[in-house]
Amino acid sequence: MKYFRDQQGLAELVFQDTGKQVQQLKIILIFFSIILFLISLNSFVFLDNSINLEPLGVMVVLLMLHRFVSSDTTNIVAGMLLWSLTIFASQQAFGSNGIHATAIVAFPSLMIFANLLSGRLLVYSLAGYMLSVFYFLAYAEHIGFIEASTSNTDSLFKKANILAIFIIASTFGIGVATKHIKQLVHRLRESIKKHDDIKTEVNKLVLFDKLTELPNEIQCSDDLKYLLTTPQQINGITGFIILEFTNFEWIYSSLGEQIANRIICYLADRLHMLESDHASLYRSTSTEFIFVISANDYEELTEYCQQIQQAIARPFPVESFDIEMTSAMGVSILSVDGENFETLKQKAHTALILAKNSKANSFKIFEKGMETSINNRVKMVQELKKAIILHEFELFYQPKVCMHDQSIMGAEALIRWNKPGEGIISPLDFIHIAEESGLINEIGKWALEKACQDCKHWHTLGLSNLSVAVNLSPIQFQRGNLPNIVFRSLFKADLQPMFLELEITESLFIDDTDFIKDQVCQISTKGVDIAIDDFGTGYSNLNYLTKFYAKSLKVDMSFVKDMLESIQKENLVAAIIKMSSMMELENIAEGIEDYTTYIKLKEMGCQYGQGYYWSKPLPNDEFIKKVTHWQPPGKDN
Ligand code: C2E
Ligand code: MG
Ligand code: MG
Repeated sequence: MKYFRDQQGLAELVFQDTGKQVQQLKIILIFFSIILFLISLNSFVFLDNSINLEPLGVMVVLLMLHRFVSSDTTNIVAGMLLWSLTIFASQQAFGSNGIHATAIVAFPSLMIFANLLSGRLLVYSLAGYMLSVFYFLAYAEHIGFIEASTSNTDSLFKKANILAIFIIASTFGIGVATKHIKQLVHRLRESIKKHDDIKTEVNKLVLFDKLTELPNEIQCSDDLKYLLTTPQQINGITGFIILEFTNFEWIYSSLGEQIANRIICYLADRLHMLESDHASLYRSTSTEFIFVISANDYEELTEYCQQIQQAIARPFPVESFDIEMTSAMGVSILSVDGENFETLKQKAHTALILAKNSKANSFKIFEKGMETSINNRVKMVQELKKAIILHEFELFYQPKVCMHDQSIMGAEALIRWNKPGEGIISPLDFIHIAEESGLINEIGKWALEKACQDCKHWHTLGLSNLSVAVNLSPIQFQRGNLPNIVFRSLFKADLQPMFLELEITESLFIDDTDFIKDQVCQISTKGVDIAIDDFGTGYSNLNYLTKFYAKSLKVDMSFVKDMLESIQKENLVAAIIKMSSMMELENIAEGIEDYTTYIKLKEMGCQYGQGYYWSKPLPNDEFIKKVTHWQPPGKDN
């Protein structure tokens, strides 16, 4: 490496860019060609009015060399240039005045160029040649081979010695100076390289995500600025897609940071495969990725969103788990919805929130009306917070009836929001917002405590066989403290666990984790019953029924309500009832509205029922009245 460095000319070192080296050599060739032309002109004008062909000949050679200069030939051409000029100068000296010729003066300047343009080899060979020329000229003059420029032939060798010393000294001096300059340039280059490396590293830290090595939001913002100026904007559309993994927080808290990070890397790898010249991927936050995609039209953009969904649909095998990721996407359009990263992100987020509220793994493209909808939600969250503080919630109770004799064996607690000025609000209108905002934890805790207290109250009134069922949201399992909340509610109300039933839905089992199973296990081991609500509408994986200690199945209202009009629904209800008895699970049909349905279900072997046929959900005092004076409805009800 060192040897190689020594063989480099200064120019080569300074001009790392070979294009610049070529250019510089070409300029030197032109420069010397002009000098040679001027020499020829000089002898024509001032000497004998005859054309001196030698400088013109060398000039032609140099102009020819000019044509052959390329990045591969710079060293050769530089060598040929210097040799041509040196030979030309020595030939001139030979032709006139010998050792005293003016042409000899060119030698030191040629040595400077040799140091500049080429390595040591050329410098030393030229110096050697020049020394030989001096002594040859002196000797040739001395023996009369060429016409002596002076009558004192002794002074010829003296002159040759002086010139030789001068050339050696200047070669050495220039060599030392060049070496120092080379070292300086080399050091300069190294520090520039170091600076560039640091710059690259800093850029990496600022513009890229550490975990996935994907570009981040800052890079995305820069890319969007660039995209705005490209012609693609005129021909098609640029979609800004935010992809959020909705169950990631859950995975993080239940499986830990290490596994969560590995899943993120797997995800990034899969998403990376969707990148192309038209689609770029970025990591935005811990749970969010961004795609910027140039598409021809909305249809192509929609197809791309579907491709993303497919890419993440397959489970991720991590350790002993098969993790299924749930996601949602919000899309905004560059130029249409905004001109910069912040606006596009805000609009895509609005669409994302609505996508999250519709079915799992869906996407939405931003529309103007969405913002109003989001604002309403934000307003409702504030109102729900206020409702918790002001105790605006109430529990209504709907009797659960034994199909055999129509006796009431318990009740399902169904929450209502008694909003001042608006009246009773159905849980269907606010539970999902309470879930999204996390307020369901607070509301659910209150419902549990209140239901336990009311049930205890029924017992003190002599209705001692009644149990109470409370609905739970999957969100209430996320913190891991649900068993404690349940036990504390029972303890505070002094209610035995056997009188409490918890209704959970199938969606809880999509993420089949020990984290949830452990909590359900702790609760059921204490004697609290677990019922699977809305059975048949969701996951319907029979495996979890045993795993999650379910005691009963609640056949969803959507099958029961019009089962008499649909043979398929009737068969489905019959199958669920049969299956539950085979698995030694109790069954309850909800949504029974008339006598005929009741009788049909009874014949099918359904054990318990719930529905408007017997009673709508009632405020606690009305429920107590109803149970105290219970009269099963007649056939005509
Ligand atoms: P769910 O647990 O499946 O409750 C049954 C729903 O069906 C109740 O609606 C009930 O009023 C209604 N229903 C019962 N019998 C009939 C009938 O014969 N015909 C008709 N058309 N409807 C009937 P509700 O009270 O509006 O509750 C809706 C859902 O809200 C509940 O469905 C439950 O998932 C949720 N919910 C209610 N209270 C709570 C709560 O305290 N916590 C949580 N997390 N969710 C709750
Ligand atoms: Mg229920
Ligand atoms: Mg239900």
